[in-house]
Amino acid sequence: MDTKRLTSRDVAAAAGVISAGGLLGIPTETVYGLGANGLDEKAVHAIFDAKGRPQDNPLILHVSDAGWLERYCADIPAVAYELACRFWPGPLTMILPRKRIVPDTVTAGLDTVGMRCPDCAVTRQVIAAADVPIAAPSGNASGRPSPTTAAAMLEDMDGKIDAILDDGPCRVGVESTILDLTVTPPRLLRPGGVTLEALEEVLGDVAVDEAIRRLMAPGEQPKAPGMKYRHYAPKAPVTVVKGDPDMTAGYIVARMGEKSGVICFDEFKGYFRGHPVEAIGPAADQAQQARRIFEALRAFDHLDVTDIWAQSPTDTGLGLAVTNRLNKAAGFHIIELS
Ligand code: AMP
Ligand code: MG
Repeated sequence: MDTKRLTSRDVAAAAGVISAGGLLGIPTETVYGLGANGLDEKAVHAIFDAKGRPQDNPLILHVSDAGWLERYCADIPAVAYELACRFWPGPLTMILPRKRIVPDTVTAGLDTVGMRCPDCAVTRQVIAAADVPIAAPSGNASGRPSPTTAAAMLEDMDGKIDAILDDGPCRVGVESTILDLTVTPPRLLRPGGVTLEALEEVLGDVAVDEAIRRLMAPGEQPKAPGMKYRHYAPKAPVTVVKGDPDMTAGYIVARMGEKSGVICFDEFKGYFRGHPVEAIGPAADQAQQARRIFEALRAFDHLDVTDIWAQSPTDTGLGLAVTNRLNKAAGFHIIELS
């Protein structure tokens, strides 16, 4: 299949791909997504095939505004509209009871569905023009780091999708926050572009799913099915070192091998001369770290490294999402310096 390159001027052509049951790479503020008509079982099935995604890992439905919630969700609590008012369009996915119109393939058979309105005008225009929700997971091959540019998505998907709409690099860089509103208190299933602290401002109490901070034991069932899979992993094994940045840099320098790669803060690049280094931004700039983390992980797959060491960001604010992706890339292989 020849994958067409579209731009923000090609809304009608992009909507045509969705209406025809095809696969479309969509830009969002978080990461690029692999989209299809979320009401078309066959089209949704093709998403799983293109990604090599396990069938039990449900997809998120992307809508053009909160007015669409009623089309696909039942028993919508008032707080869902409050959250939409505050955070949509934006990187928040709400888990709500689904209506029957949503196919089982989208929800992996669950009686709930993930709903999001992306903060990307062109993608909302495509959704509105096609007049169907776009079901989309991240646009990487299953297990690989998520793509934050069209070029990164094409590394995995060129020839497997009908078209990709290139709207430049993603502004946030980590996927949406997933919040389950079917339980009390609401439960954070995946940290993302909307911080836990911002949710707490609106909701008061928010429960944090265990799968965010630790590895699931065999047989354990996390609430977000996606959290149980190995994720975001470059080919070389990753070790995360947590603690004061001066100490973590020193620790890594003392232990790294001849062909080790390093993910570090900008201030510490000089420590690792002669090694492949991906700097993810200043230690204090969490927004930059979020934008850079997936490209940094992807970069090592083109380099001759035996292993990768990473300085861990702090896990407050947006840092909870960045450390979650890094820790998952490392299979939770984390060294804590005190
Ligand atoms: P991705 O954005 O590629 O990581 O894929 C969507 C994520 O949303 C996966 O981690 C899914 O497990 C999660 N998800 C989608 N729908 C639901 C749902 N109904 N309940 C819980 N998690 C969901
Ligand atoms: Mg994904």
